[in-house]
Amino acid sequence: VSVRLREALRRSDTLARLGGDEFVVLTGSAQPEDASHLAMKLLGALRDPFDLGGEQIRITGSIGIAVFPDHGTDRNVLMRAADIAMYSAKSQGRNRYQFFTADMSERTQERMQMEQGLRRAIDNDALEVHYQPQLRLSDAHVIGVEALVRWPHPELGMISPARFIPVAEESGIIETLGMWVLRRACHDIVGLPDNDGRQMRLAVNVSVRQFMREDFVAHVLEVLTETGFPAESLELEITESTLQVIEQSAGILDALKRLGISISIDDFGTGYSSLSVLRGLPIDRIKIDRSFIIDLTENEDARAMIEAMLALGRSLRMTTIAEGIELSEQAELLLRLGCSEGQGYLFARPMSAGQLRQSLRHPPDDI
Ligand code: C2E
Ligand code: CA
Ligand code: CA
Repeated sequence: VSVRLREALRRSDTLARLGGDEFVVLTGSAQPEDASHLAMKLLGALRDPFDLGGEQIRITGSIGIAVFPDHGTDRNVLMRAADIAMYSAKSQGRNRYQFFTADMSERTQERMQMEQGLRRAIDNDALEVHYQPQLRLSDAHVIGVEALVRWPHPELGMISPARFIPVAEESGIIETLGMWVLRRACHDIVGLPDNDGRQMRLAVNVSVRQFMREDFVAHVLEVLTETGFPAESLELEITESTLQVIEQSAGILDALKRLGISISIDDFGTGYSSLSVLRGLPIDRIKIDRSFIIDLTENEDARAMIEAMLALGRSLRMTTIAEGIELSEQAELLLRLGCSEGQGYLFARPMSAGQLRQSLRHPPDDI
């Protein structure tokens, strides 16, 4: 990349690599038009595929442009302006350039700060993983946990993954973050017995982008080997949107299956996957989304939907787990309808590994 960029520049221009995939070009022209020409030239320089050991790799760039003195008179301000413009180019779909404008939304700035903060948090090992117990509804035994990432921010307090996971997905950080969570979770849960005395099952969320990486399966195997966590007790939660990319996902699912890893479909019922997608795929469990559980006891339709999902699970020989159970009436009704497992505030909130170990010392009561 450096070589191609350098070839597109003049001798008097400066090219620097800031680290990772970020480069800075300093060019000494008086005309903003020159900057946009140069930006197009640089994007063009990346267009042809790169040959990496015989493999053809395609990449794109996103360019932000800041102009002296309009957008700043010192280098810090200029660099920040260029950075904000670059994020704006990224969020508009990549492979483009953007001039900085003063009204570039607060959102971009906020997002950028969040992205930088998140990178730093991963580097500094400042993220945490919490665990929410999953119970067998018939005897209230804890038979699994779901790993949920947490970001304790020094100034903003606990930031919800609902806020930072989308940022991590859009920026690509999710690939590093996801592997970090998997490693930490396997490390925390290996050797921990469930209420039946077996190795606790561990469910870890995997986002599409992480799942589709070519080296995903190899990475998972590496983490299992490194932590000694048994593949049979690991479950990966994917969403319906991941299944949509069907041709690729089928191969990855088979490879995971061969390792002995289970797969569950998260937020089931909220996506748009046609039911036929489920057929023939090695799915072990479906997780009925919380939105169906919320008005289960009052709403006939919600109940009908759940009954249909349970019937589907039974006929495809998949187990079902209901998430977001907050009331004992919900748990009782789900058990009566034939749902075998549940997760929710009624039983336990997500907690640290230490708290989890503590709570498992107290034997469960029947519901
Ligand atoms: P999710 O996978 O659907 O996780 C369940 C969410 O519901 C969690 O929110 C959990 O704390 C919450 N929850 C559990 N029981 C109840 C309940 O009874 N009532 C209510 N109101 N909520 C309940 P959380 O921890 O904020 O996570 C939000 C989302 O962020 C997760 O939704 C998941 O999509 C994503 N996420 C979290 N950790 C990771 C991760 O390591 N990787 C990826 N890719 N995504 C993650
Ligand atoms: Ca989940
Ligand atoms: Ca879910």
